[in-house]
Amino acid sequence: MLSKVIAQASVDHVEKWFEKADRIVIVSHVSPDGDAIGSSLGLYHFLTSQDKNVHVIVPNAFPDFLKWMPGAKDVIQYNRYKDFADKLILEADVICCLDFNVLSRIDEMEEVVKNAPGRKMIVDHHLYPGDFARIVISHPEISSTSELVFRLICQLGNFSDISKEGAECIYTGMMTDTGGFTYNSNNREIYLIIGELLSRGIDKDEIYRRVFNTYSEDRLRLMGYVLYDKMQVYPEFNAALITLSRAEQKKFRYVKGDTEGFVNMPLSIKNVCFSAFLREDTEKDMIKISLRSVGTFPCNQVAADFFNGGGHLNASGGEFYGPMEEAIALFKQALVKYEDLLLGKK
Ligand code: 5GP
Ligand code: MN
Repeated sequence: MLSKVIAQASVDHVEKWFEKADRIVIVSHVSPDGDAIGSSLGLYHFLTSQDKNVHVIVPNAFPDFLKWMPGAKDVIQYNRYKDFADKLILEADVICCLDFNVLSRIDEMEEVVKNAPGRKMIVDHHLYPGDFARIVISHPEISSTSELVFRLICQLGNFSDISKEGAECIYTGMMTDTGGFTYNSNNREIYLIIGELLSRGIDKDEIYRRVFNTYSEDRLRLMGYVLYDKMQVYPEFNAALITLSRAEQKKFRYVKGDTEGFVNMPLSIKNVCFSAFLREDTEKDMIKISLRSVGTFPCNQVAADFFNGGGHLNASGGEFYGPMEEAIALFKQALVKYEDLLLGKK
């Protein structure tokens, strides 16, 4: 038996909203990852089975390795179909905000979602949910929003309406947000849920291959280059840093998603407990910061402190507007400031 993680009052509230709603829009965060798309499409398949008119809208493109997901072709990219998306958002009875805590995470969609008359609900696992929604289902102790979507559907009493397609999407989000069940994955109920998803006919091994083993040759070469030439290890801080310029991305014919997971690689070095990946963005004039840690080191504090960002204890990120040298200098300042925590002295 799964424990009832989501408060019954919230489930009842959602049930009422879904019952009354005809038009439902699901939105998720900028540069959507496996959990953003997985949770959104998981909920999309369920609501479609309830004969609702449902659309998933995300701010911009998502990586190719998620495009096989059932329903992915119907996901609307706001930066490409703004007028159509605006209309859907403004006409929606209910707006489900999945896998993000504050409206700034949906970039250009922020204003229209904020001002839309539809009822808003959050289903998310990031700390500190904003106050823009009437129903807030926020569980940072749960490793993926996709798992929360599964739990929500079950608590609504609709497990039997989860199709194989929906189960594939939910599984993908659970898998990607835990690095293939290698971190944040010690909750035994995760495996009860996987058992239930398998009973829906999903092929979890095939999903793993589709997500993690379908990269291009260019990406593998870029990975080799980054590990050999670009990774800086700071053994005196138990930390590591990788930077990547626009020119380097061009040289390796970078496409979105190619650097996915790079930030985790230095964590496989003995004693390294904090890793940063700084990449010059190809769309905006900024440096995208990704931070990862193992154990108790709070990389979300570093993200908030130095890079205008946030996230989870072990996975966080932010943005930096300025030249790479300054971003690197900030990273080094962070190492000094957090030295005691990095060395396990606190
Ligand atoms: P990633 O490194 O995969 O881009 O992001 C990891 C996690 O860090 C995300 O799931 C999100 O929680 C957080 N994150 C990434 N970028 C930002 C950002 O710019 N602002 C905030 N607040 N959080 C971010
Ligand atoms: Mn997530």
